[in-house]
Amino acid sequence: MSLILFTNVHVLDVRHGRLQENHHVLVEGDTIREVSDRPLTSASARVINGGGRTLMPGLIDCHVHTTFSQTNLGLLAQTPNTTLALRALPILRGMLRRGFTTVRDAGGADYALKAALEDGMSGTVLGPRLFVSGPALSPTGGHGDFRPRSDRLQPVGCGCQRLASTRVVDGVDAVRLAVRELLQMGADQIKIMSSGGVASPTDPVNALGYSVEETRAIVDEAAARQTYVLAHAYTPEAIRRAVECGVRTIEHGNLIDAPTAKLMAEHDAYAVPTLITYEALARDGVRLGLGAESVAKIEQVRAAGLHSLEIFRAAGVKLAFGTDLLGASHNLQSEEFLIRAQVQTPAEVLRSATLIGAEVLGRSGRLGEVTPGAMADLLLVDGNPLQDLTCLAGQGEQIALVMQGGHIRVGSLAA
Ligand code: ZN
Ligand code: ZN
Repeated sequence: MSLILFTNVHVLDVRHGRLQENHHVLVEGDTIREVSDRPLTSASARVINGGGRTLMPGLIDCHVHTTFSQTNLGLLAQTPNTTLALRALPILRGMLRRGFTTVRDAGGADYALKAALEDGMSGTVLGPRLFVSGPALSPTGGHGDFRPRSDRLQPVGCGCQRLASTRVVDGVDAVRLAVRELLQMGADQIKIMSSGGVASPTDPVNALGYSVEETRAIVDEAAARQTYVLAHAYTPEAIRRAVECGVRTIEHGNLIDAPTAKLMAEHDAYAVPTLITYEALARDGVRLGLGAESVAKIEQVRAAGLHSLEIFRAAGVKLAFGTDLLGASHNLQSEEFLIRAQVQTPAEVLRSATLIGAEVLGRSGRLGEVTPGAMADLLLVDGNPLQDLTCLAGQGEQIALVMQGGHIRVGSLAA
């Protein structure tokens, strides 16, 4: 098994929010074997001199759409799968370059893409380790229903609703079957629409998505396979319904209020805010082809963004890191760090993008930290992110090396 020894690095302990100066880290195969303040010796190890940089865990983004290469999701829906997959390649590489070694795809990416990346240990297809949802499930007229408003609504089942990124399905028995199918096809978790949204044409933001009965059935089926449900939800009413039915992570949550945040904390539900996407849509949405119906809805949720972080934080809701970028905006992913830093401390923001992400994915101890036994997902960073998160911003310019599962993906500092 290959051995790599990092010397002359300051190890970022995200759990305690401190830098462990002048440490040594030994990687064996895909796993971190030893982290020590004393020099480690290994005759057969390849030595990487970190040059006094920060060695930190690879980042985790819990809300991305790796196959959303267009801003207009209606157009995206008409794109064949092979085209979608090929267009995802530069998006995936960009994420890895920015230090994201693991991402949860919140709708669109499927088992095939995940498997291609896992085979990619050979280096053909590079990107973050994927946790896929397959298509997000939506009720008729909900956030995943991209059919135009019409008095001749195309029927479900004609093929047109079986899009790569969403699937329209209604009724308790039908949603049960849909979840079983998605899990059979290799979904890691199930994504549902619990409220209206911005990027879809006919649903107001304050609309409710799946009913209590449907949501319970979906959660039930996911739990039967030891997995969980993530729900797109903006309003307190939608969030409350989802959480009371057992949904584990609330996506966006912009319009949260204090009582509902308290309920989330009591249920150990996670929030995955995605504030950068509203900035991106407000700045460039029209130019990038976002429909007029959608543009009108952006401001409703964007204005509440930062305040929602304060409410979640005050209630003690665990915040994971998410971005939800579309089309040409993917390169803004790391700006989310700077938005979060307006409300949270750098250590809290770093925990969101590492330890809490790992918890959401059910990979605590394996992902999101530099400790023995964890996967060797490591970044060498110029600067100390505990003092200033801008060293993680941009396109990874200050990230000198990205290691994923013991493989060097970006940079080479071998001595
Ligand atoms: Zn959403
Ligand atoms: Zn999304």
